[in-house]
Amino acid sequence: MRYCPRCLEPDTRPDSIFDEEGVCFPCRLLETVDQIDWDARQRELVEIAQWGRERNVSGYDCIVPVSGGKDSHRQAVYCRDVLGLKPLLVSCSYPPEQQTERGAYNIGNLISLGFDCIYVSPGPETWRGLMRAGFMIWGNMFKSTELALYAVAPKVATAWHIPLVVYGENPALSWGSAGGSMDEDANRLKYNNTLKGGDITWLLEAGFNMKELYWYRYPSDAEVERAKLRMVYLGYFMEDFNDITNGKVAMELGLKPREGRDAILEDIGQITTYDALDDDFVIVNQMLKQLKFGFGKASEQCSGMIRAGTMTREEGVAAANLYDGKCAHRYLADFCNFIGVDEDEFWEQAERWRNREIWKQDGNIWTLKYPLT
Ligand SMILES: [Zn+2]
Repeated sequence: MRYCPRCLEPDTRPDSIFDEEGVCFPCRLLETVDQIDWDARQRELVEIAQWGRERNVSGYDCIVPVSGGKDSHRQAVYCRDVLGLKPLLVSCSYPPEQQTERGAYNIGNLISLGFDCIYVSPGPETWRGLMRAGFMIWGNMFKSTELALYAVAPKVATAWHIPLVVYGENPALSWGSAGGSMDEDANRLKYNNTLKGGDITWLLEAGFNMKELYWYRYPSDAEVERAKLRMVYLGYFMEDFNDITNGKVAMELGLKPREGRDAILEDIGQITTYDALDDDFVIVNQMLKQLKFGFGKASEQCSGMIRAGTMTREEGVAAANLYDGKCAHRYLADFCNFIGVDEDEFWEQAERWRNREIWKQDGNIWTLKYPLT
């Protein structure tokens, strides 16, 4: 396990790209950022918006997939107020046991800024079963449900003949997780590490049927092609599309950040309080991610801030070592309760995923063999 010498990115992230000097892809990309002609990209974006307007047959120029978080607020308002588009917001909701009050408030806040929104709520029993299957089979409870989060927008777009879908950031450019595209093209988004091309074979093998999986079935490449659906990443075109600016803009628009005990950094494994607002199971998943790959959400956020120049690498190392992989017991207990496993069974499963090549045991204490320094 090695870390990028400039940020904190480890080479254990699936599909990550490092060069011969051990520098991660997003840091290398940063060297060329001065050469980007942002005015040219803005013109390209304006042309794409015009392309969407010209193909509007439904009343909507585009879909903006939203969770109600900081990026959603930024995307929706930018599409409408700067690009002059008429967007339809499409959101995939969590079951009530998973959705936080804060998340419900925030999606309400976004809609109240004057948007039409379609809220897709896949049945909670199937959702729960899928989450359990993802956890048991892959040690990733979101492996299955992320399919729905990403599939709802292209599904609604192809059904309603809406020509354009505007996503936020390109994960390849933001985190260096390859598998999609390296530019503005989001049509290949489903080929990223979690979605694996929208493959649901493992879910059929686990006993779920095609009807139950309707909302989890990403449209095929042929369906997207037939619908002439164009999907783009807004982040590619905007110089200041990042967590810090998006968080600031969204809070000015009324986004409610984490508060009270849900904002205790030692409990949530993060270094900000405006991330992952609509769901707390994600904190459990970040802890599992650390067992598998040796890093969690905090180091990922620090890497972003180091690249943005708002944090030194030294500060990042300190923060990441304090908060990475941390998860308060109450979030774990809620998750176990939701999927119907007791905590002993949870830990038995979780330990199966601990990567012994990067962790070492001393008595009851596990530590990383290659700590972040
Ligand atoms: Zn780096």
